[in-house]
Amino acid sequence: MTSEKTRTMIERTLYSPDHEAFRDSFRRFIDKEIAPFHADWEEQGYVDRAVWNKAGDNGFLCMSMPEAYGGSGADRLYSVIQMEELGRAGFSGIGYSLHNEIVAPYIERYGTEAQKAKFLPAMASGAMIGAIAMSEPAAGSDLQGIKTTALKQADGSYILNGSKTFITNGWHADMVIVVAKTNPAAGAKGTSLLLVERGMPGFSVGKRLKKMGMKAQDTSELFFDQVHVPAENLLGGDALENKGFICLMEQLPWERLQIAISAVAAAQAAIDWTVDYVKERKVFGQTVGSFQNTRFTLAELQTQVQIAAVFVDKCTELLLQDKLDTATASMAKYWCSDMQCKVMDECVQLFGGYGYMWEYPITRAYADARVQRIYGGTNEIMKEVITRAMGLGGK
Ligand SMILES: Cc1cc2nc3c(=O)[nH]c(=O)nc-3n(C[C@H](O)[C@H](O)[C@H](O)COP(=O)(O)OP(=O)(O)OC[C@H]3O[C@@H](n4cnc5c(N)ncnc54)[C@H](O)[C@@H]3O)c2cc1C
Repeated sequence: MTSEKTRTMIERTLYSPDHEAFRDSFRRFIDKEIAPFHADWEEQGYVDRAVWNKAGDNGFLCMSMPEAYGGSGADRLYSVIQMEELGRAGFSGIGYSLHNEIVAPYIERYGTEAQKAKFLPAMASGAMIGAIAMSEPAAGSDLQGIKTTALKQADGSYILNGSKTFITNGWHADMVIVVAKTNPAAGAKGTSLLLVERGMPGFSVGKRLKKMGMKAQDTSELFFDQVHVPAENLLGGDALENKGFICLMEQLPWERLQIAISAVAAAQAAIDWTVDYVKERKVFGQTVGSFQNTRFTLAELQTQVQIAAVFVDKCTELLLQDKLDTATASMAKYWCSDMQCKVMDECVQLFGGYGYMWEYPITRAYADARVQRIYGGTNEIMKEVITRAMGLGGK
């Protein structure tokens, strides 16, 4: 977002010089360890495992986790910078943010001491990759309708049965937080989170799903067939049995804001690429950028990105103060991802036929953007959340 090409006009006040120095070093990491390989990773459908280990070696994983568990004890702005830089560069195959800022925080916030000691240092080093499995073939928006069960046995362990789909990092994952019903009769109040590890008998990873965009990101199906999950792998231990839904709800504001952050960064990058392109491309003896339609379109898009950026920075400030509520985060998620898709569409148009060619970053960015309105809770669900906060009820 603070690229030399950034055309937003309102100065950002969130970041210190240390944050900006970190941005530079993470950009260098992207240039060296991601950019040269990302197109090949798109072809193979997943990123090389080495890019996780290298991130761990460089201190780029689980930065906001405490030092005692292998993190850096950094504030979340460092993670925000990573999201912005990956969004700006368009390297959507990299699943760091889900690992660092969705999976690890569940363990840090709710895990027992033993769970933190076991999983967080391994996640910070890149030795272990994390995923979270909520969605099922027949339950996405309606999470209360999940069918996966984890039934308690006489020895306190659980037998897990069910399947999950669309799981980011699912193919690489060494540990998956699985949302399951531990008391199926009790609905949301019978839901728990289990830490399921690669190699547990009966746990298998299905095929990597072929997607419209985000082609280098390993999105997979997961299957659980009579998986024996020891009692110590219930997140938070006995105290959190059947309280998984509450944990999921508490984490929503940050998870949704992350989508908004990446949306703004990706949209700004698209505008920057397009401004460069229309200055060069000549049609009817003049540049595409000289047409009033082009200039007005880009002015409108830049205005929307600027407005979104200010709102998202304010939400980030609230998050850091622990004051970001779910409805406001839902506004950010829905509005920014809608805006991102509109920006991508208009920018592709200004590229003409080249905007439809995969080798052009704008084409990839267009394809990548579409899912932002779907995952993390669809934008329709965001509107439900917002209206509920307005006292309008609904489902
Ligand atoms: C690339 C990708 C990565 C993903 N990563 C993960 C992951 O890591 N972990 C995970 O658990 N899940 C993940 N998901 C799943 C994602 O969160 C779900 O796809 C999403 O929540 C929507 O659920 P669904 O696909 O079942 O759609 P459905 O719930 O079937 O929705 C279908 C349509 O109905 C609409 N709808 C539903 N309910 C309402 C309502 N009350 N009012 C109005 N409209 C409604 C929806 O908005 C949507 O338009 C991922 C998905 C994708 C595509």
